[in-house]
Amino acid sequence: MKKALYYKTLENGVVRCQLCPHYCLIGDNEHGLCNVRVNREGNLYSEFFEKVTAVGFDPIEKKPLYHFYPGSTILSVGSIGCSMRCLFCQNYRISQLTPQSYNDTEIFTVKSIVEFAGKKENNIGIAFTYNEPSTFYEYMISVAKEAQPAGLKTVMVTNGYINREPLEALIPFIDAFNVDLKAFSESFYKSITNSRLAPVKKTISRIALSQKHMEITNLVIPGMNDNYAEFEEMVRWIASETGDRTVFHISRYFPNFQMQIASTPINILLDLYDIAKKHLKYVYLGNVFDIARDTTYCDQCFSPLIVREPGRTLIPGLDKLGNCTKCGNHVIDHVYYERMG
Ligand code: SF4
Repeated sequence: MKKALYYKTLENGVVRCQLCPHYCLIGDNEHGLCNVRVNREGNLYSEFFEKVTAVGFDPIEKKPLYHFYPGSTILSVGSIGCSMRCLFCQNYRISQLTPQSYNDTEIFTVKSIVEFAGKKENNIGIAFTYNEPSTFYEYMISVAKEAQPAGLKTVMVTNGYINREPLEALIPFIDAFNVDLKAFSESFYKSITNSRLAPVKKTISRIALSQKHMEITNLVIPGMNDNYAEFEEMVRWIASETGDRTVFHISRYFPNFQMQIASTPINILLDLYDIAKKHLKYVYLGNVFDIARDTTYCDQCFSPLIVREPGRTLIPGLDKLGNCTKCGNHVIDHVYYERMG
């Protein structure tokens, strides 16, 4: 248990959490909506500090991050809790549980997780992922502050539901973000995720301003967020707000948790891919077997630069500076070729 950051104590010991746009009002001995921040006698605590539910070395492509040290490995860490209630959650076994119903955590102190990450050969750093990392904000920022001086990179895979002040305090300590943009309508966010779109857009805009590496993921659910006009409005907004070189992942939905409609038809994904490519240079299809649409091509001479096959990533067309070896076009800022630090 760790004293939380970003809250105010009001009258009668009630606490208002200010970490995310829910601004939960939390009575004594009660939890906020994310289930992991608890009021004890007028103070807010992060209940799962240094308690993790999932730890493992993953290919960076699994986050997904495609233009951030492609082909590398990253230690991925998650805890429990989430600030959203997505009916289709792919990780609901750890994100949608109450603390009382989950006892299977492992202790990793701030120091021990950084040491663990540093010992693995060819591991570039630590990714905060699996459940929403902003709900374990205190742990994430402490680990990130310790990891960077050790030469490790830090990654946050997030739903983007975080307020401005905590986000801006965090950005200097995170090297790369993947933000889920789940749809481009407030009604979807409200009815399917119990949250709002506007704060997520603000998060994306703020990260873009910081110039930290950011990729965006959109999970396409048939009949829910696959309207072509709305999708095109979304990719147009991304191109204008974060630039047409922003890496964009279109991901196929499969039934999970409380949403059991059939998985996304491939033809819809292909149509959306074509729409996105009108506005963005680097678009990829995820959760489908399609090597062509999972390959990075030079946006000038169209040579294949990075080929992603099941289980391995090949980099036939990039030099160590991230330039296309055929035409010299600079494509990727972060190319993995040796251990940093
Ligand atoms: S972080 Fe949790 S407790 Fe705080 S406002 Fe968001 S959902 Fe509520």
